[in-house]
Amino acid sequence: MRLADKTVLITGANRGIGKAIALRLAREGAQVAIGARNVTTAVAVLDEIADSGGQAIAVPMDVTDSASCEAAVASVLAQWHKIDVLVNNAGITRDALLLRMNEEQWDAVIDTNLKGVYRCSRAVLRPMLKARSGCIINISSVVGITGNAGQANYAAAKAGIIGFTKSLALELAARNIRVNAIAPGYMETEMTQELAPEQRSQLLSRIPLGKTGRPEDVAAATAFLVSDDAAYITGQTLVIDGGISL
Ligand code: NDP
Repeated sequence: MRLADKTVLITGANRGIGKAIALRLAREGAQVAIGARNVTTAVAVLDEIADSGGQAIAVPMDVTDSASCEAAVASVLAQWHKIDVLVNNAGITRDALLLRMNEEQWDAVIDTNLKGVYRCSRAVLRPMLKARSGCIINISSVVGITGNAGQANYAAAKAGIIGFTKSLALELAARNIRVNAIAPGYMETEMTQELAPEQRSQLLSRIPLGKTGRPEDVAAATAFLVSDDAAYITGQTLVIDGGISL
């Protein structure tokens, strides 16, 4: 129960990595707000947390809309009177080689994956600054470090998150607010289901640990980074990729 009494807001927590993070943090004692564009899609996570004795609420939240992000933070404050942790997890892909990438594909990925992190982080700043404590985790990607053909928009957004994380960590360190990023490699979620079998086996052959990652691997790292075990860690990017970036 190393996260007992911590209140957490996670964006895009109805499925995939966000869901795994919600389940893990709730299991470690946190009160978890499940941010979801459509809260009816969060019912399964809420039930799972309630069944295991945890506490969770669902809050409607679209990270492309500032008012929605502010309203979600206000809901958490109304419920629990504080917000200790924000996990910026929501993300999309619109893959294409640059020659074929239109502005809609570029803008959608930057707006959700990078500007969404700005919007949500800004929305939690006042309560965290007032409390003189807090923790923000930004889910980047190993692609933000290595690059990836066909994902220039996604890689730019994910690299941007790493720079954002370092800058915000510097801005907030004196107020006892830590900001870190996690860069997952290839994780088994709906986002990666679209790969063709030959792409999948080619990718697998490049992973030194010889297997894909699980959302639970990212969740375990998140639990560590938000806990007091990581009290002296800020501005860092923790890579969880089975060694693929080596
Ligand atoms: P999924 O596609 O499984 O889930 C994405 C989540 O983001 C969903 O909950 C989705 O909500 C939510 N979301 C998308 N757009 C918005 C929005 N505008 N507002 C609020 N929520 C939104 O992806 P993963 O779980 O795989 O990915 C989670 C994060 O991890 C992403 O940031 C991704 O880039 C990153 N990542 C994933 C990797 C992987 O291999 N899977 C590797 C590296 C990084 P909805 O259900 O409404 O669509």
